[in-house]
Amino acid sequence: MDTGWSQAEVVALGVEAVAYAAFDAGIKAVFGYPGTPSTEGFERAELLIRAENAGRRAHWAANEKVAYELGLGVSYAGYRTLVTMKHVGLNVAMDAFVNSALTGVQGGFVLLVADDPGMHSSQNEQDSRYLADFAHVPCLEPATGQEAYDYTREAYGLSERLKLPVMLRLVTRLAHCRGSVARRAPDPVSSVGLPHPSEVPGWILAPANARAQYQRLKQKLGPLLAEISPYNRLVPGAARRGLALAGLGRALFFELAREAPRLLDWPRLEVSGLPLGADLIDRFLGQADEIFVFEEDYPYVEDLLRNHAAGVAVHGRRDRTLSPTGELSASQVRDVLGIEHPAGKAPVTLSVPPRPPRFCEGCGHVDAVVALKEALGRVGAAGTRIFGDIGCYALAAGAPYDAMHACVEMGASVGMALGAAFAGLQPGVAVIGDSTFVHSGLPGFTSFARARANLTLLIMDNRATGMTGQQPVETVDSLERIVTGLGMDPAHVHTIVPLARRHADNAAVIEAALRHEGPSVVICRRECVQASRKGVNREHDLSVREAARG
Ligand code: SF4
Repeated sequence: MDTGWSQAEVVALGVEAVAYAAFDAGIKAVFGYPGTPSTEGFERAELLIRAENAGRRAHWAANEKVAYELGLGVSYAGYRTLVTMKHVGLNVAMDAFVNSALTGVQGGFVLLVADDPGMHSSQNEQDSRYLADFAHVPCLEPATGQEAYDYTREAYGLSERLKLPVMLRLVTRLAHCRGSVARRAPDPVSSVGLPHPSEVPGWILAPANARAQYQRLKQKLGPLLAEISPYNRLVPGAARRGLALAGLGRALFFELAREAPRLLDWPRLEVSGLPLGADLIDRFLGQADEIFVFEEDYPYVEDLLRNHAAGVAVHGRRDRTLSPTGELSASQVRDVLGIEHPAGKAPVTLSVPPRPPRFCEGCGHVDAVVALKEALGRVGAAGTRIFGDIGCYALAAGAPYDAMHACVEMGASVGMALGAAFAGLQPGVAVIGDSTFVHSGLPGFTSFARARANLTLLIMDNRATGMTGQQPVETVDSLERIVTGLGMDPAHVHTIVPLARRHADNAAVIEAALRHEGPSVVICRRECVQASRKGVNREHDLSVREAARG
């Protein structure tokens, strides 16, 4: 069998290092939903699996909850699995994530979550460490690509020993930082077997079982702390000032300490694994009168220290020694620790004209939005509110379109337009992408399709998850059947091709939909220009053509 392990050393992004490690750990399958900065982790695992061609699976799921559940099935069958998502995606998977800690897992289960402090490409900068804590699962936080690889390899054994999923938390700077990673000899794909029949009821979270499983989960804290303790290090020092360093804060500190070796004399708590034991915290606090905490992005470790720190001053984001929001920067660490800025490289304040993101040249979303605006004007609703969603089409919120007035989370547009219509804002208008519709729009749509209200939903069917790199959408070209299957009257389901030369016809179709005193759907179908270049749907289109030829 070709193991795909052709290189002992690779140059990889942080999330790719996780993928290499998962592959080398013998995963049976990888599942995910695209989202920056996690996407390349899945893509690397998929490439490795495809190159090997030996019965492993790589599958983009409809959403993160589905990805997690697919992974859970693989694990329950005794095999190792990797599931990837970004931090807000974990909200979508929370039901499965939290409850999988209660059921426990069988084959090693690693969840790669990529957080985005600074919101480079996200609607918030929430910190996944809190969710690991909430679910009572271990969380490993690497500071380098090599650690991302090593910790992931180890996480599979950890998961199987504890029978818990293990979260690998990366942040943008590490997720998208490329570096050299040494791989180790691979493990074969193998099953640890199905659990003993006596354990199976634990997977059924009926109340009586769930209560027992919750007690078992609580009892795992001791073994969990013992397993995690090697990932945390207390380094004594001569000074009475101390440093608590976690994740990227650890990487930044050691980079800068080369310029200020005196700082290495300070006592340090280096944190790579959670939960953090109270005993370790107390021992660290006993060594210092004043502590500086560097971590990314919420004050998680800082708060743990504050909770124990009688008489010890703790500085971090809470007391605004560091900015309470945004990424931790080398510049901030320099300022706090008094490390000189390199000559000529002191932080400068530049006034740079804003360069908002733009639609790609030739993007069909533009033509759909222009047609929608015209149609709204014709029905006297030019000033209405358009409920939008997550995807490239959200760029319509800006000038010159002003065609989106709310964009909250995946799938929200459908429910928001319906709720606003209930409150009297009719026609209720929602705009959603095909991938987002399948991801989270479907449950709300079951109410939308049957509502007695003037509602119009534009589904921007660009046949890809455009925003995150044009991953394929499984429901390609089948939205008409989906929406009618969920209760839409076929007479009010329309399909248009958003092209400038079809503008008049398209505006007329949307106008008719807006005038209808009931739910309407307008599917705006034109392939994402970038997906078309990549040939994302080539196989699908070929099979459709072959079927047509008979
Ligand atoms: S990536 Fe595709 S959908 Fe997004 S703006 Fe570009 S062409 Fe449009």
